Amino acid sequence: MCLEAGPMQKKTHTSENCPRNVLVLGISISTIYSSISSWAVHEQNKLWQELSGCRQAKRFLYGCDHSRARYALSLSRQDLRILVGLLTGHADLNRHLHIMGQCRYSGCPLCQEAEDTTLHFIAHCSALMLLRKNILGTTLSRWTL
Ligand SMILES: [Zn+2]
Repeated sequence: MCLEAGPMQKKTHTSENCPRNVLVLGISISTIYSSISSWAVHEQNKLWQELSGCRQAKRFLYGCDHSRARYALSLSRQDLRILVGLLTGHADLNRHLHIMGQCRYSGCPLCQEAEDTTLHFIAHCSALMLLRKNILGTTLSRWTL
């Protein structure tokens, strides 16, 4: 038996006269797509929070963000490589190069005050303070973790 609900309910289909043998509930396709999308984003965020790895990426990425994803996908391959390197910590900075055995010194070559990590490079390096302020402006306080 097939059921119809909502304002379109006019007749009841039986298994013999239902064209596709499915339930008809009167829910629009856009509502279904929206619900599935919301559920998928919720599940992705839950998995991201529960994931034990990706320590550095979690400092910059809090969850799904479609506008940031669109921005990243609009970048050239070279710029996207730099962005991914900075977000994941796999950038050409001394700490990562030191871990890979390609550099003896893991410290920041600019200020020599801390390890040369992406967080230090983006948020803490005193040698880049003025440049950071010019680029980030008033959002600077968000990056002082
Ligand atoms: Zn520094």
